[in-house]
Parts: sequence; structure tokens; C-alpha cells
Amino acid sequence: MHINGIAVSPGFALGQVFLIEPEQTKLSPEQQTTNNPTGEILKLKAALSQACDEIQILVNQLNGSGRKDQAEIFEAHLLMVQDPEITDGAFQAIEEQKLTAGAAYKLAADNAALMLSQLEDEYLSARAADVRDISQRVLQILSGKKAFDFTKIPTGAVIVGYDITPSQMAVIDPKKVAGFVTEIGGKTSHTAILARALELPAVAGVRGIFQHVTPQSQVLINANNGKLIIDPSPAEIETFRAEKRKYEETKNLLLQMRGLPSVTRDGHKLELVANIGTIQDLPSVLANDAEGVGLYRTEFVFLDRKTLPTEEQQYQIYREIFAGLGNKKCIIRSLDIGGDKNIEALPLPAETNPFLGLRAVRLCLQEKNLFKNQLKAILRAAVGHQVGLMIPMISCIEEILATKQILAECKSELKQQGIAASETLQFGVMIEIPSAALIVDLISRHVDFISIGTNDLTQYMCAVDRLNDRVEALYNPFNPGFLRALNYIFKASVENKLHSGICGSLAHSELLLPLLVGMGVNELSMTAQHILSARKMIRGLDYQACQKLVTEVLKLETSEEIKNRLREFTKG
Ligand code: PEP
Ligand code: MG
Repeated sequence: MHINGIAVSPGFALGQVFLIEPEQTKLSPEQQTTNNPTGEILKLKAALSQACDEIQILVNQLNGSGRKDQAEIFEAHLLMVQDPEITDGAFQAIEEQKLTAGAAYKLAADNAALMLSQLEDEYLSARAADVRDISQRVLQILSGKKAFDFTKIPTGAVIVGYDITPSQMAVIDPKKVAGFVTEIGGKTSHTAILARALELPAVAGVRGIFQHVTPQSQVLINANNGKLIIDPSPAEIETFRAEKRKYEETKNLLLQMRGLPSVTRDGHKLELVANIGTIQDLPSVLANDAEGVGLYRTEFVFLDRKTLPTEEQQYQIYREIFAGLGNKKCIIRSLDIGGDKNIEALPLPAETNPFLGLRAVRLCLQEKNLFKNQLKAILRAAVGHQVGLMIPMISCIEEILATKQILAECKSELKQQGIAASETLQFGVMIEIPSAALIVDLISRHVDFISIGTNDLTQYMCAVDRLNDRVEALYNPFNPGFLRALNYIFKASVENKLHSGICGSLAHSELLLPLLVGMGVNELSMTAQHILSARKMIRGLDYQACQKLVTEVLKLETSEEIKNRLREFTKG
């Protein structure tokens, strides 16, 4: 039987199912009401304190065994267990509704999880799973029952669960596991993040999986396309083995790209760097030998919270990331909210055209304190590291000057306070608005580098809302006008000796790569998993041939003609 899910961590696996049925891990309190609320409050307090102790032990163990990315998740859990939003709700339910400690805590946690899961932001809604995980831990403690025994997992098993929580992941021995399948979740769920960190294949969002498997089932996972086969036939196993072999050969070939320069056959050098959102992305940056970070989206620091992060809190987070990169460079982008990205800590009025509204640097220039806190945190954290500050959504020189003025104020205030600030911080802007694209020569006088946000530049050049699926076909990076704009930007950069990059999704387009190289891009920033294949492609290209290709392609009239020519070039 064949079923589909979402491929969240690549690879192939074939193994015996190990079922973690929802009821084995989804506890419910046995008794719902009480006539001793004071006793229940004390019980809940004790359980919360025990939960904190257990989580702290996990954090220490994970840090001790070098699983820092997993430890981070539990550090966040530690804060969530103590979050008054949930605990106050639970205490109130005990007092007012006379619920037992377990029933009250479950109610408060379920409400919080529901609220999170309804948020549009994919990352935030995935945090509902963390709240459920904590709730299960607290209920487990209150029930006095023994936790589900994960030591029974046989070697080579495919773990099938409703959602494999971070707490379960932390006690599962990854050496015994062939892969993961979950009924819910997507690319940003913790099962996905951790499976990627462990380099184990995982498919999430497989609705109805429990109706199709038993502990006797064998399951075959293709986590590159999200397909599962339950109890495969010998012929299907044969095909699977061949595909797996091919995938592993390609992967090994790509691994050989580690440590090699990203240089064309005729000696033209490029920089391949990674896009990151949180510290959890660093292992993949290092494993895939990215030459640094070309876009650190700081939105995540602001997203997961009710109040704005302080300068000190931001400093700690940025410092850890810069330090984690060792001597590799990091381009950190100042806050880019508005448009489709809203934060709870700074509610913004609704706008008719949010993508044309108060976004990114426009907002930061109006919210000067917020901007200064972030800039100061970056200036401080960048001491001793190779860091570039990048400003999103620049539309004119005035915005650059205003930002530089604020940056200078931040530097002088830090100096007055006797606090060390970076003296080598590079300053750059994103080119993602047509009015900026046309003045790259003028911009080059004020900045050290530019990076093109092709996700936004495409939408503004083609006048297509990047989220509106009714006009999706027009959101087209092969549009000849858009490609001419790119060429114009790179030409101006080369002429003005300005370092130029791309950090939008286009940076890893296999088809467009020869064209971008030919146009003279210096740096491509992409999800770390794409770095080695991009390097392999670059090493097979000839810069001069790519330059000729640009001249040829920019004369073509339609995107179909352009795609065909690029396909031909890539094959040939
Ligand atoms: C872009 O616009 O290409 C970009 C990298 O920024 P974001 O997708 O975060 O707007
Ligand atoms: Mg953008």
C-alpha cells in the first residue's frame, strides 16, 4: 500500500514498524474534579518543579554529549514550563472550577497549544507541539505512572508516531533507528528539525498512518519525495534498493565537495554561504561546508515571545551564533517584519497592501528604540567576529543615510558607556525593491556589499503578491524583464567593485545558476543542504561560456524560450 506525506528529512529507509500509539503517550488525568483545591495547587507546584528538574537534567545530558541543538529545545521547554500564561491559567482553573491539578494543567496547556497551532506562521504554530510535550511530562509526573519505555526499540526500526515529541526524541537511541514517520507535523516540527540534525530520513503529516500499519508491518520510506510503501512487494524492495544506492552514491560524491573551493573550470571564484534562522541551523551549515552565513534572518528572535527581546537578550543570542561559526563570516539582517511576518510583541495595524506598507527598515526607522536595541546588540556581539549588518527593503539613499546615522549613534552611546563595539562591522543592504535596483551605482558609495532578495524583487518587479496563488504563474524568475534587472544590478556592482550576492530562493536554482555566474554574482546564499550540489555545479561551469550565455538569453522574448535555452545549456 502506498501513502504520501511531507518529506522533512531526506534519505531512504526500510524497516520494521515500531509504533508509538497516541494513547501510549497521550495521557489524560483520571480524576477531573476535587474538593481540595489547596492540595491540588500544592501538587501542581511540586509537579512543575519536578518537571523543571527533569528538563534541566536532560539539558545537561544533551549538552554533555554534544547534542547542543537538542539541548536548545529543552532550554526553551524550561521557560515554557514556568510560563505564567499556562501556570496561572491552571491555578485559576483549580480554584474557580475545582479541577484536579492534572485536569487544570491539561486545560490550560491545551488552550495555549490551540492558540499557537492556529497562528499562520509555520514556525510558531509548530511550537504547539512543545506545549503538548510539556503538558504530557507534567501529567506523567502527576499520574505517578512510568513513562513509555523507549529502550525496547529494536535495531533498524522505523518509528511511527502521532508526533514524536522532543522529550521522546531525546531518549530514543538514534543508532537503532532507520527513520521516522509521523501523522502530524511539517518541515519546522521538532521531529523534522531533529531528524535532519541526526541525518535520519523522516516523513511527516502522514494522515491516517495508524489505520494502515501494525507492529508487524514493514515500511519503506522515500523521504526525498515523502512516499511510503507499507509491506512492499519484493519488486518494490528491489527498486527501493537501487534508488537508495543511487542516492547514497550522489550524496557521497557531494561529500567529496567539502573543503574544495567554489570555483569554475576557468578559475572564477564564488562564495557559497548559508541562510539561517536559529542556532539549530548551524550544524548543517558546518556539515555542508558553507563558507559562512549570507543571511541570518533575525525575525525568529522576535517571533516566539510576547514582549520584545531586550538588547542583552539579543546580544546573547547573536553572540552564540557568531561564536558557533568560528572564523566564518556572518551576514546578519536587521529585523524584517511586516508584510506576511507579524510579531505578537509589536502589534501592527492592518494595512490594505501590507507588502507595500510599513515593513522592515521602514518600520525600524519609525520604531527607533527597537532598532537601536538590535543594532547595539549586533555591534556588541560582533566584537572579534567577521560580521556584516544587512538592511532589508531599502528603497532609496535616504533610508541608508538614516540607518547609518542611527548606527553611528549606537556606536557612540556604547562608547560612552565603556562597552566594546565592533570596529570592523561591514554594512550592506538588500536589493529587493526596483527603485534600489536602478541606483546600485549610487548605493555602492555608501555600503560594503549588497545582496539581492530575489523573493521580494520578483514580486515587486512582476507586480505579483508572492502569497497570492491566483497569480502564482506570473511570479516568475524567468521573466525576461526580471532577468534584465538582475543583470543590471550585477553589471553596476562589477563596475563599482561592489561585492554582490543573492540570498533569495533563486540562489539555488540549478537552471539559473550558469546565468547568475555569467552575470558576475560574487556570493550565493542558500539553505545549507544545497551548498554542496551548487559547488559541484559551479566546478563544472566555464565562466566565459556563462558570460556568453547571458548575452544570448537576455535577447530572448519569453520565459519559456529562456527556460529551454537554460535546460539545453545545463544538459550540454
Ligand atoms: C528575499 O526577499 O529574497 C529574502 C531573502 O527575504 P525574505 O524572503 O525573508 O523576505
Ligand atoms: Mg525579502
